[in-house]
Amino acid sequence: MLEQVSEFVCLGCAFSRDERYTADIERRVNLGNNFHLFRSLQNSLGSVRLTSREDCQNHLSQFFDQKPQNFYSNGITSFTYEMAKMTETSEKNSKKMLRLKPFKRTFIMSARYPDLVQLVHAGFSFEGRQIKYLKISTTNFNNITKPIYFMNAMIHAREWVTTPVTIYSVFRLVENLRSEDRDLLQDVDWIILPIVNPDGYEYSHTDFRLWRRTRSVNLTNSVDCVGVDGNRNFDVSFNTVGVSSNPCSDVYPGPEAFSEPETRIVRDILLEYLDRIQLYLDIHSHGNYVLFGFGNQTVPSNAAQVHHVGAAMGAVIDTMKLPEAGYYLVGNSASVLYGSSGSAQDYGQVREIYSNRFIKYFRVTIAI
Ligand SMILES: [Zn+2]
Repeated sequence: MLEQVSEFVCLGCAFSRDERYTADIERRVNLGNNFHLFRSLQNSLGSVRLTSREDCQNHLSQFFDQKPQNFYSNGITSFTYEMAKMTETSEKNSKKMLRLKPFKRTFIMSARYPDLVQLVHAGFSFEGRQIKYLKISTTNFNNITKPIYFMNAMIHAREWVTTPVTIYSVFRLVENLRSEDRDLLQDVDWIILPIVNPDGYEYSHTDFRLWRRTRSVNLTNSVDCVGVDGNRNFDVSFNTVGVSSNPCSDVYPGPEAFSEPETRIVRDILLEYLDRIQLYLDIHSHGNYVLFGFGNQTVPSNAAQVHHVGAAMGAVIDTMKLPEAGYYLVGNSASVLYGSSGSAQDYGQVREIYSNRFIKYFRVTIAI
């Protein structure tokens, strides 16, 4: 999709403030050259290196013959919405190909690196789409002394920028591993689930750009509205804080915990690997936050450790942020952002506490 291509390019702009990442940007541009929109953009860029926000904005403006308004100040959501409006008349098939790109990329990487990457079919969404994740390991997940880092994105359908973060992480692990990051591959096994909610993702392309929820139908509940907020649907303080009983609300938690096949898939991964998961990242957009539980403003017993790790994470991200962007805020999600219940982050965290292990769980909210 063009919208996502734009996000890739703009991610590139942000990263390119540091010369070390220039090669990645060029590589990512090349990755998209099968698609005519991306190729056109690539041609328009030529050999130009984007090294500032202004460069990025100017080149995008030239390419689209239109200046994106409030490009950074309003965040990526409004920007991609503008892009979506601009491309309403684009060739339908090309848009479909482009929005399927994350699926194709995961498949290609698993096929290209069979000794390192395993593509797992976890189950089906409500509308029957396959939900897949990647297992990345130098030891085929057989070394049980290794910790697992589990990362997922796109529980919320409209947060398109989150999936490229996961795909880029796979790229960095299997195709572009740097010597200083070698331990991340050698000493850690990874589970990366790029799209938790494929039904909503599709709907946000075909019908309503800002769709957030799943697409499940429950006629006894509502004949007017479909779907629930996947990030309120987990079995932790379910239906208590930051929710609405209105089935049409964006924070409707569902008729019961784990009513959605999509959240059950995340639950099953967490439970299957509970003993080994050391880090769980549930990625959302947009905002500059590293958040941890609990959504009802109580804190887990490992809050101090989690805060410490989150602060380190935020500090590293801050070294690469644009000057206009705010510093990443780190803290309890209810204190820093707003109250919630039934979130993926809280579910993972409370499960680990029950198993009496000091393991870290975060929701990372990103903004470009
Ligand atoms: Zn979200």
